Amino acid sequence: MDSVTGPPERMLDDRDELTPMMAQYCDLCEAYPDSLVLFQNGDFYQSYCEVAEEVARVAEVTLTQRENSTGTYPMAGIPVDSAASYVETLLDAGYRVAVAEQVEDAEEASGLVDRAVTRVVTPGTVVDDELLDAGTANYVACVAASSGDADLDPDAPGTTLGVAAVDVSTGETLVTSAAGRARAVEELERLAPAEVVPAPELAFDADELDFDCAVNAHDADAFSLDAARERTGAYVARPESVLENDAELRAVGGVLAYAEYAQGDDGRLEYVSRVTRYDPRDSLELDATALRSLELFESRSHRSGDTLVDVLDDTACALGRRELVDRLRRPLVDRDRIEARLDAVEEFADAALVREAVRDHLTEVYDVERLIARASRGRANARDLRSLKASLDAVPAVKERLADAESDHLRSLREELDELADVRDLVGEAIRPDPPQEVTEGGVIREGFDDELDDLRATERDGREWVAELEETERERTGIDSLEVGHNQVHGYYIEVTNPNLDRVPDDYRRRQTLKNSERFYTPELKRREDEIFGAAERADSLEYDLFTEVRSAVAEESERVQSLASALAALDALSTLAAVAVRNDYVRPEFDADGGIRIEGGRHPVVERAQDEFVPNPADFTDGGVAIITGPNMSGKSTYMRQVALTVVMAQAGSFVPADAATLPVVDRVFTRVGASDDIAGGQSTFMREMAELTDILHNATADSLVLLDEVGRGTSTADGLAIARATTEFVHDEVGSTTLFATHYHDLTALADEYEGVFNLHFDARRDGEDVTFLHRVEPGPSSSSYGVEVARMAGVPDPVVERSRELIDEGSAGTPSDARGEPEVRPDADAEADADDTPAAETAGTPDGADATGAPGAADARGMDDDGATGDWEVIDPGAGDGADPAGANGNGGVNDTLDAYIAGETVGEANAASPGEAGGERRTRNGDGAGADEDSAARAVAEELRSLDLARTTPLEALNRLHELRQTLDDD
Ligand code: ADP
Ligand code: MG
Repeated sequence: MDSVTGPPERMLDDRDELTPMMAQYCDLCEAYPDSLVLFQNGDFYQSYCEVAEEVARVAEVTLTQRENSTGTYPMAGIPVDSAASYVETLLDAGYRVAVAEQVEDAEEASGLVDRAVTRVVTPGTVVDDELLDAGTANYVACVAASSGDADLDPDAPGTTLGVAAVDVSTGETLVTSAAGRARAVEELERLAPAEVVPAPELAFDADELDFDCAVNAHDADAFSLDAARERTGAYVARPESVLENDAELRAVGGVLAYAEYAQGDDGRLEYVSRVTRYDPRDSLELDATALRSLELFESRSHRSGDTLVDVLDDTACALGRRELVDRLRRPLVDRDRIEARLDAVEEFADAALVREAVRDHLTEVYDVERLIARASRGRANARDLRSLKASLDAVPAVKERLADAESDHLRSLREELDELADVRDLVGEAIRPDPPQEVTEGGVIREGFDDELDDLRATERDGREWVAELEETERERTGIDSLEVGHNQVHGYYIEVTNPNLDRVPDDYRRRQTLKNSERFYTPELKRREDEIFGAAERADSLEYDLFTEVRSAVAEESERVQSLASALAALDALSTLAAVAVRNDYVRPEFDADGGIRIEGGRHPVVERAQDEFVPNPADFTDGGVAIITGPNMSGKSTYMRQVALTVVMAQAGSFVPADAATLPVVDRVFTRVGASDDIAGGQSTFMREMAELTDILHNATADSLVLLDEVGRGTSTADGLAIARATTEFVHDEVGSTTLFATHYHDLTALADEYEGVFNLHFDARRDGEDVTFLHRVEPGPSSSSYGVEVARMAGVPDPVVERSRELIDEGSAGTPSDARGEPEVRPDADAEADADDTPAAETAGTPDGADATGAPGAADARGMDDDGATGDWEVIDPGAGDGADPAGANGNGGVNDTLDAYIAGETVGEANAASPGEAGGERRTRNGDGAGADEDSAARAVAEELRSLDLARTTPLEALNRLHELRQTLDDD
């Protein structure tokens, strides 16, 4: 950004000539060089020179001029009363705003009014309700290495980085560690802070972060280990007991320093009462890509109502909404905690009366987390305190409703409901029920709270009553019926007599003001009363303010208790809401089974089902470590299906019921989602490069407990490349990673993988012709879709017959599309290498990948559970693609598989032996579906077939010829 912060150049040039006020402005700009300084002058925040020009441009206020003895300066003013929206505009434009307020009463100041920056408004530290979203936390985050020393490379892979965040509006402070920059960025993505302040040794670029956020620098000294230790020590009694390492210490120290700086640097933020350390592995990890592609919080179409949180959020209060969002952002991985939440949801689901009553009471609860933080900052007004009281008033009723709670979770939440009767009573007795916005102008403190105040108000009241009766008494005394008593700001009380009656004015009337048709008078008694009234009123107002601030401080003292209460109320809101939504939408409680895969009956997509007249429920039955290849025409429901499986997992681990008839789930550690470039064109930014970067991330970070969704991966490039990548990815995930994987693809050739790998199986979606229309059944079926579905759909959609026929011909000839690409694919795939590995160095391969051990456990499970529905007959039948679930003998789709199988077959003996020798050990051998080593005892017919295959010139064989040939060869074997 071409920033115009810092002191205006012209002022610097003529520094000595500036008027005292301008010099003060210039000094403040210099003290806050990174911020736009808004300089209070009465009712306006002013800025001058080039800063003024920028403010006028960005905030769309009028550019005026200020003239003084030293010259004329451009000037732009923002009204103090409605500053928030202008400040927001400046923040949106990328600025930080330093608010320099008059900290001295202008009337009392001798000479220049003292001004000071009372806060620096930055995207991550805003506290104004107008600038905050009630339903989301607003974090500023810091990232730091263990030291800023030059000999430590913070960007080296695996370097421990501390990540800390504080929500200044509530005081919530979090910290964790990340191994390396990529993980730190991922953690930031999950926190989604509005602002990131990296330690000086780390350079971060806003583009590197996959979400909307400002990146700003802060004073390097704040990140020194000593400074960080001292500052953190002011918040946490023993930082070393909470924090894991120096990187965390520096991150926390830095973020707290920045938060203090933003609040005007008056030292410790009282309402930050604890620093919570967490481990990302304690929750189901969802990175920004997953959050986005599953549309948890943001819809890809940017329509409202299209996200998971839109469906689930029927919370009663802002506390509950933030809690719900947090639960979805960080679902649990601890089974006991998940079950505890589910027990509570189930109890609420079953007890409609209790649930609705609790929810009803919770609607009375204000955002007490932010209220108490404001009270601590000395910014809460009387209305805020009344709102706090109204919230506390709801607590006993909620508690009462939970008297019979059975689940442990609900019972312990009930115990945490501190009624805070002391705070409630104090506010109730001290603060009037409907207080004004301002706290300096009286009307805030209740009668009976303070004797002195009551006396002053009584004096004021008596005086006013006396004045109110004055008109009547003076009319009687003087006989002037038109006599009036009035009041104005300048002259105070007066008695007005019209000119014709002036001769009847008594002696004690003193002239105050002459008007055209009348004169205004006062009497010594009126003057005395007036002084009494205004003296008492003024003293009462200021006494009220003092009393108010005392009450506010007393309330702020209890911020920790209020925060605990707030988190219990938030949890109750989230739980009762999830129950209400579950009942309304017909969700079911998920069950967990650590040993099985994902098993769902009648599963639905929670968001899509709401927009659909008739949503077709679909089952899911996935082996741990299994790979489902999902094919079918465009718009047939592949993406929806994959996402509904992932959403079911996320919801369940967040502690929600799920949209299904029944669900038995494992506990998943991470969900990865990758959507192919061309599918994400609406997003506008997706490129093939990025797709590949994301893919890399999966391949490095997924584990056997992860759930991986690959949606049209490899689409953003040529067919040959795309297919090769898609295939190699599947192989790798299958062999090395062992994650449960759902792969929707238009590369029909991939379906052949099911014939080669244990645990790889096909699913498909079909379309049907309905008169002139194509109908998508949206029903998942076993096996691959027909290879010619594209042409089928074209036919159904009314493409003229000759074109359809010609397409079929081309497919049959194998010359459609990019024949050399597609057919050449087996040459680029690392198949032969894999074989060689299995052959030569099985142990080395396994040892090389820690996950390999897990992964190799999977095929057995797959077998046992019969997920491999392609007919594992214990021989080499895989050669016939038609024998698979696809029943697609005519299609040319099986090319990849045919060639693979040929390769395998040619290498048959060796592979077979390797299998027999060490079943279930090496990654490479999983490509055989039969661990019984049947290949080892080939009979003579088989040997003859093998011989013939070896002599086959693959490069010159068309796929169709190859198929026919294979069919014949198989016949030979079968006949034998
Ligand atoms: P694909 O990924 O196969 O192109 P999508 O999953 O994007 O298809 O689905 C396309 C549309 O079909 C969805 O937007 C939705 O309207 C509808 N749809 C998907 N699945 C179902 C279902 N199970 N029942 C009803 N409609 C569905
Ligand atoms: Mg799709």
